[in-house]
Amino acid sequence: MLINYIKAFNDNYIWTIEKDGKTLVVDPGDAGPVIDYLKDKNLDYILLTHKHMDHVGGVKELKNKYGAKVYGPLETKEYNDIFLSDGDEFELLGENFKVILTAGHTEEHISYLMGDKLFCGDALFLAGCGRVFTKDYKKAYEGLNKLKNLDDDTYVYPAHEYSLANLKFAKSVISNDDLDREFERVKKLREEEKITLPSTIGKEKKINPFFLARDLDEFTQFRNKKDNF
Ligand code: ZN
Ligand code: FE
Repeated sequence: MLINYIKAFNDNYIWTIEKDGKTLVVDPGDAGPVIDYLKDKNLDYILLTHKHMDHVGGVKELKNKYGAKVYGPLETKEYNDIFLSDGDEFELLGENFKVILTAGHTEEHISYLMGDKLFCGDALFLAGCGRVFTKDYKKAYEGLNKLKNLDDDTYVYPAHEYSLANLKFAKSVISNDDLDREFERVKKLREEEKITLPSTIGKEKKINPFFLARDLDEFTQFRNKKDNF
């Protein structure tokens, strides 16, 4: 199995999973870069985490061109072939996928756990989390706690390269050696314009202020601070 990424817009990553000649992409916000990446390969499946255009903008064109089958939550209904909700499990490319509701960024944002790999869209970022557009901080906090309870060695594949900005904010609200080390690692990679992902749940438990928040109140405080940072 091969996991790769396609860059889109300024800072989006469209993750690809390839196995036995089949290809799946997560959150194709733009069709062009996916078509370029595929060359003469087919696109078999599309997984969607939520309805924002930088995640679904390329779906219609890709579906028309390749006949890819689309999986997503109710909020992406105009694109879906298969509707998913919390706790659903399905098999693709011979792998088991588990759906975890990680709402808050949007009403029905979902994340996908494939074995020890988590595709979490805009729910969880390296050292950060998605803006809570719904204002339902409780839901957002609950969703993040579900992710926090996954195994420490779970790989985390978010949809954006926000790591450096997130770490700058993290350093303003928490401080520890792991955070300092991660900041130096990420700073160096970004100077070379390299990807900083995937992360792991174990790492996030040490450096992500939204994982380290003591309770819902502190989570909400951190989130509001970050929005104005
Ligand atoms: Zn989003
Ligand atoms: Fe996004």
